[in-house]
Amino acid sequence: MYGSPYAPPPGPFPPPPMNVAWSSQAYMSGPALVLTKGATLPDVCMKCGARHGLTHRRHTFAWSPPWVWATAVFGLAIVFILMFAMRKTASYSFPICDACNKKWNQGRLFFGLSFLPGLFVMLLSFVFAGIDEPDLFVLTFMASILGFLVAPLVTKFVYSRPKQLWVSNIDDRVAFVRGVDWQAAQVVCQAAQSAASAPAAPAYAPPAQGFGGYGGGGYGGPMPPGGFGGPAPY
Ligand SMILES: [Zn+2]
Repeated sequence: MYGSPYAPPPGPFPPPPMNVAWSSQAYMSGPALVLTKGATLPDVCMKCGARHGLTHRRHTFAWSPPWVWATAVFGLAIVFILMFAMRKTASYSFPICDACNKKWNQGRLFFGLSFLPGLFVMLLSFVFAGIDEPDLFVLTFMASILGFLVAPLVTKFVYSRPKQLWVSNIDDRVAFVRGVDWQAAQVVCQAAQSAASAPAAPAYAPPAQGFGGYGGGGYGGPMPPGGFGGPAPY
């Protein structure tokens, strides 16, 4: 004989944790905008926060865990195999203004062009090999390898990446998107918050486990005001 007969039944069904992940589509985690895969975004340029003159840019991010690079000591082939095996992707249709979209394309173009110096020097090394100049061949061949590594890396991080969006992590459910304009990120988070507080069915309902009909899908509850998960953005 314990408790009131009207008390909710004790036991095997503790209330599910208030896990924002199930209903949210966007929140900040440090400098990253965490987005549910395939999330629909409000009309705001992801790179500058503009609200007008927007187009959409479909983009698929691919990400592999950074430790994959550590396996390079066993050979580059291992790296590529693991990269492919561990690869996770996330696709979005990003709202973006024309100016920012052009800059993104410029970043891509220059990254592609950054392979040309290395290629040119490598062709030169083959010429030296052809005219039997082994010293010059080795010199230019090494320089071309260096060129293939250095020029694209510098171009990527100094020139291309700031014009684009990239990811710092992808798991089975969300991507950590970097490079989003700060104001745009606020707009996206607010839109996700108001969508989550609407009584729509959550996109990621917890497994029912005998809970069917008990409270009729209303659990999970409204989002706590301001409690949209994650640490403060900055
Ligand atoms: Zn823009």
